[in-house]
Amino acid sequence: MTRQPLQLLRQTFGYDDFRGSQREIIEEVISGRDALVLMPTGGGKSLCYQLPALVRAGVGIVISPLIALMQDQVAALAQLGVRAGYLNSTLERDAARRVEQALRAGQLDLLYVAPERLTQERTLTLLEHVTIALFAIDEAHCVSQWGHDFRADYLQLNLLQERFPHVPRIALTATADARTRAEIVERLALGNASHYISGFDRPNIQYRITHKRNSRQQLLQLLRHEHGRDAGIVYCRTRKSVGNVATWLQGQGFCALPYHAGLPAEVRQQHQQRFLREDGVIVVATIAFGLGIDKPDVRFVAHLDLPQSVESYYQETGRAGRDGQPATAWMAYGLQDVANMRQLLMGSSGFPEHVRVKLQKLDALLGLCEITTCRRHALLRYFGEHSPDHCGNCDTCLAPVETWDGTIAVQKALSCVYRTGQRFGVNHLIDVLRGKETEKVQQHGHQRIKTYGVGAELDDTQWRSVFRQLVARGYLQVDVAGYGALQVTARSRPLLRGEESISLRRDLPEKAAPRPRRERRERQLAAGDQALFEALRQCRLSIAQEQDVPAYVIFHDATLMDMASSRPLDAAQLLGINGVGRRKLERYGAAFLDVIREFDAAPAVAGPERSGQ
Ligand code: ADP
Ligand code: ZN
Repeated sequence: MTRQPLQLLRQTFGYDDFRGSQREIIEEVISGRDALVLMPTGGGKSLCYQLPALVRAGVGIVISPLIALMQDQVAALAQLGVRAGYLNSTLERDAARRVEQALRAGQLDLLYVAPERLTQERTLTLLEHVTIALFAIDEAHCVSQWGHDFRADYLQLNLLQERFPHVPRIALTATADARTRAEIVERLALGNASHYISGFDRPNIQYRITHKRNSRQQLLQLLRHEHGRDAGIVYCRTRKSVGNVATWLQGQGFCALPYHAGLPAEVRQQHQQRFLREDGVIVVATIAFGLGIDKPDVRFVAHLDLPQSVESYYQETGRAGRDGQPATAWMAYGLQDVANMRQLLMGSSGFPEHVRVKLQKLDALLGLCEITTCRRHALLRYFGEHSPDHCGNCDTCLAPVETWDGTIAVQKALSCVYRTGQRFGVNHLIDVLRGKETEKVQQHGHQRIKTYGVGAELDDTQWRSVFRQLVARGYLQVDVAGYGALQVTARSRPLLRGEESISLRRDLPEKAAPRPRRERRERQLAAGDQALFEALRQCRLSIAQEQDVPAYVIFHDATLMDMASSRPLDAAQLLGINGVGRRKLERYGAAFLDVIREFDAAPAVAGPERSGQ
């Protein structure tokens, strides 16, 4: 008897119901058709191939570039009683041989394979001799030569269609623009696939972008006030700043580990493992870190430098809150970052067309940074999705931005750039505007030009804000060959001539913690439940350590929170908790029920030191 998808979902995975379009996708693949799935991180893509692989005859082959994660994915499946294995270069010869034997003997439900392994003739021949339920191509955007995750091996995956024409293929990604989608269809020969494009909103993520003053102190404030013991990722642009920030955070008492491509592979591996397995680890990283990081309880992603595009911003911040619990995406940026990023992109190799596209993408990101309306609305619109004007969970919704009429100030700034010959950076321009008779001002005779001293009404910080916004909005450009000199663009002419007015953001010091939205409070358990939650976590930790797997592989935080607040008393009630399936009930039910019972039996006021009050 073949099992029904819903029955499998409940019994094996322990979930009550499908999410979003999971059901349709799963039915499509079960019936043997191809699918292209675009779902945000945390949307539940894995289930879309795991479940059909269990229903269909044979083994599901999952192609993924993320070999570091395969072991944990296989371990998580084993916890559910699913027979899974992986083949990649980290596996010893003997271990690989055992996996291949199990495969031939039809003893696997799922097999994870690295693309370079799959495309070897030897592997293909092996696969031709077994029954294959489906091919799942994870991180399918890796076929795109425009993206920064491009993998040459992915280009060969069209051979799957040639060699296995009757096996359904499902391609999955969280990276979405139309161009990438078209490339996936073309290169993976998915012309007949149904497309499933899910909404991109991640409502549990709070988006906040602030101007950079002292970025370390700003970060520290965020961590101290809101994320004291949480796991998170801090992104920096350079390896050097990764090292510095990690060391500095350690000095502040955080468990912070550096991660970038310049570190030895063992160190990177070890830091990633600790991040996945321990509670409350912060990884300070370049973008080398994170592709497909499958940790559900990352509570914040902080950017100390600008990402390259809205796509990368969304992908990187999307690593927060996969479990659906409240999470923060926070970024601090300043004028210098814009200059650095432009320089990086213009210096990057490639066709002029590629560089031009990259610069446009950076401009779109800067637009998001300077926007005075809802960030989420703007983000979703960028991905072609409609949403309400106000999300209630981004910085501009929580603390509306004040604007001011910057027309006069902008005219002064632009004409100062113009009259000093478009050869100077922001510091000197501000000195001229504010009438500071520095050595440099004298050397160039700038105390004699018309704009000298006309800007006394604003201080340095305010002028900096004006210049940053002008650059971000394309009225000024940074001459990357000329050491950050600012130059006027064609766009600023109407402003200079007084034909256009401009409204600017008023940069206010960041509030410590924006007013929390409902979900934030929901995450807080009642005091008694919180103590039980901690006890349940302890129980989980010791089981996880015994088995040498990440804690979330046993149960997610959300599942433990559910247990703590609803306090199931027997197996049947425990089975009703989201995330508890049959297999886990058998293995761990007793241990967790014991913790709950003990806790309920203990006197309400624990500890003799309290009783005398
Ligand atoms: P993605 O690969 O799309 O980023 P995952 O497949 O890792 O997302 O799923 C994200 C989280 O959601 C996981 O913790 C997963 O167990 C959970 N999940 C997936 N589908 C469901 C569902 N139908 N009900 C409850 N939780 C789900
Ligand atoms: Zn908003």
